[in-house]
Amino acid sequence: MHKFGGTSLGNAERYRLVAEVIKQQPAPKKAVVVSAMGGVTNRLIELVDGAQSRDSAYRRGLDALKEDEFALIDALLAPERARALESRLKDDFRDIEDVLRAVWLLGTASETVVELISGYGELWSAQVLHGLLAAQGQAVDWLDARQALRVAPGEMGPQIDWEYSADAFAHWMSSREVDILVITGFIATNTEGIPTTLGRNGSDFSASIFASLLDAKSVHIWTDVDGVMSANPRQVPDAHVLDALSYKEAMELAYFGAGVIHPRTMAPVVKKSIPIFIRNTFKPELAGTRIHLVEDAPHGGPAPSVKGFATVDEVALVNVEGTGMIGVPGIAHRLFGALRDAGVSVTMISQASSEHSICFAVPQAQAEIVKEAVHQGFFAAFHQGQLQTIEVSEDCSILAVVGDKMAGIAGVAATFFGALGKAGVNIRAIAQGSSERNISVVVDQKDATRALRAAHSGFYLSNQTLSVGIIGPGNVGATLLNQLAEQVERLREREHIDIRVRGITGNQQMILDEGRISLANWAEEFERNATDADLDAFVNHIQTDYHPHAVLIDCTASDAIAAKYAEWMERGIHVITPNKKANTASMDYYRRLKASGRYHLYETTVGAGLPIVQTLRDLIQTGDEIQQIEGIFSGTLSYLFNSFDGERAFSQILREAKQLGYTEPDPRDDLSGSDVARKIVILAREMGLCIELADVQVESLVPGGLEHGSAADFMAAVPAHDAALAERLQKARQAGKVLRFVGSVTRDGQATVGLREYDLEHPFARIQLTDNIVEFRTRRYSENPLIVQGPGAGPDVTAGGIFADLLRLAAYVGAPL
Ligand code: ADP
Ligand code: ASP
Ligand code: MG
Repeated sequence: MHKFGGTSLGNAERYRLVAEVIKQQPAPKKAVVVSAMGGVTNRLIELVDGAQSRDSAYRRGLDALKEDEFALIDALLAPERARALESRLKDDFRDIEDVLRAVWLLGTASETVVELISGYGELWSAQVLHGLLAAQGQAVDWLDARQALRVAPGEMGPQIDWEYSADAFAHWMSSREVDILVITGFIATNTEGIPTTLGRNGSDFSASIFASLLDAKSVHIWTDVDGVMSANPRQVPDAHVLDALSYKEAMELAYFGAGVIHPRTMAPVVKKSIPIFIRNTFKPELAGTRIHLVEDAPHGGPAPSVKGFATVDEVALVNVEGTGMIGVPGIAHRLFGALRDAGVSVTMISQASSEHSICFAVPQAQAEIVKEAVHQGFFAAFHQGQLQTIEVSEDCSILAVVGDKMAGIAGVAATFFGALGKAGVNIRAIAQGSSERNISVVVDQKDATRALRAAHSGFYLSNQTLSVGIIGPGNVGATLLNQLAEQVERLREREHIDIRVRGITGNQQMILDEGRISLANWAEEFERNATDADLDAFVNHIQTDYHPHAVLIDCTASDAIAAKYAEWMERGIHVITPNKKANTASMDYYRRLKASGRYHLYETTVGAGLPIVQTLRDLIQTGDEIQQIEGIFSGTLSYLFNSFDGERAFSQILREAKQLGYTEPDPRDDLSGSDVARKIVILAREMGLCIELADVQVESLVPGGLEHGSAADFMAAVPAHDAALAERLQKARQAGKVLRFVGSVTRDGQATVGLREYDLEHPFARIQLTDNIVEFRTRRYSENPLIVQGPGAGPDVTAGGIFADLLRLAAYVGAPL
């Protein structure tokens, strides 16, 4: 048995595809249940509504529908066959017109009229597909299901008259010998022989009814998704396809809003244990989701405890309260009896054991009827004060989590409620079926999607899933992206650290991705698909309800970006950065960052990838006392004084360094010492000192009078000052020492930056090239200080340091909830 829904039958091309899929199925005998062409059922119902409300636009709607159906036929069938079918459709459209005219005159449409009209789409669809398959030489016939399927109205929707239907169907079949039988979905006749339907989306149900009547081997429900997913993919981008479900799980999921299958589809096939497969018409090679008895999951292994999530919208929550209910037997019975008499179906019930109140959820459209029914049914009780209030809250949604194996597994509810709590979703009511297959909560409808996503990620995303945004894909940023590109896959598979770079933004342009940017070709992606940068939109995109953690990595040196950290962190985003501006802004700002409760990781602000900040933190947190930190913190100045041996003038070395790209474009930015001063402030604050940038005493190497003007003018004027530095070097050498440009801070808050002399044996005297070196003198490391030394600049080591911070963050946030 194969069923194709409206999503598979959108246009002529799709009917052809459907015919192809049918032919490819291996079984010698196939039955095919079809829905109406996509959107047609809605359009038919709108026609009735239009006529009823005397909106003459319905005529145009009718003409348009006719045109579309005829265009479909013309596109698919050869002229002769097309004419024959069109002449039948002409009769149908004439009938519809007559009925609508009557509705127009009456200004009202009975249920029978709606049922009759809304069923035409299936009739046409079945005949079109039948014509198409017949033209392709298949032995095919089609059945108007109303000739076989008889239903009686029931409380839970139409009830199948199995005996009658089996006879009628057998009778119809007895005179036919075909390979493919096309059957209309959705429609049936009632006990009076009047056309009716199985309710919206009822074709799934039709398929399983006929599967049972035919003793089919399997039911394949073909649609536009790869199977039943852990949540509606339109609401939860991260939803994944479920391999297998039990009938009961599928029923619960469908009942609580998983629109991919009608909740009643399972019942007719359970008895004969016929499996149902949900499959994608557009990817017929996929196996889809298998719905069967729970015992035979296809891939073996333990099934996950929680299978899926779904929401039902437009629900009203009703709360009936009264002291008179306590201990009085039969209240619930009477209450729900009254609702049954009023034809209301209750979606969810919850009663606290105090029996002081009963709370239940009903479709919002029935809220008024419910109020009325309860008031009437309990008139006396209200009158005598046993019942006090009936309160109806509209615009609610039910969110359900479903899974057979939830029973007996502790912690499912905790994870569920924990996730909702973290997302700030208020829960209005809770119910857990005693089967423990389902926990349902009622939330405000405005929170429903957020709640769904949060719950879904609570169960399915590793707590080390990071939604990452990278600001500034320049030198360091680009290197970081390339480093990530090589590792993310391995980290996800081996370490369960799921780093999802979901956005990259520069000054002008940005790219965003709902899932993850493919890092292997992020640069081309950026070239091709970037849109105008918008930092607020960027940040909103990175922080979502369905990612447990959001991280922004600022690879710029921008003051303006650094000024945003506090706001970002206060709204829950973690920040990682090599940018020194935030930590060297005012103490007030620094305190705000620390108080935000989010992680701010900035190892690379001092000494690039060298473990300086982390070492300091470890010392302090383990109770050591820092007496002094002193070091060479600038790769540029390190290089200049390592090379300054008296043979060449300082200005010449500076020029060479500039050419090698070791200096900033304007070398005064290095020589002024202000960059070193910032690093000292960062370390000093880490030590717990209260210090501002202005408190650091800085000896600038920019000669007085040359602070302003262009970089070129500066370079031209520098040689005139060579003598002064040469003299200082001379003096140092005579004392057996070298010159080094260092920064230091002591426990009492003395912070200085400038040129100092060191013995030839001192570690600072023996460094190479652009090395940084830092010496920690502490209570524990007093005689023999702790030294960290190594390359302290360059995109590779800086990006590596940022990457390490990112992994550190994953470890911090990944602790079990
Ligand atoms: P058809 O016309 O084929 O019957 P439907 O629109 O009725 O198709 O059902 C398919 C749609 O169901 C999907 O496109 C998807 O948006 C929606 N859907 C809702 N919940 C789920 C879920 N849990 N898994 C898969 N699809 C779902
Ligand atoms: N065409 C009907 C509907 O839109 C039945 C179905 O598609 O299952 O509800
Ligand atoms: Mg459907």
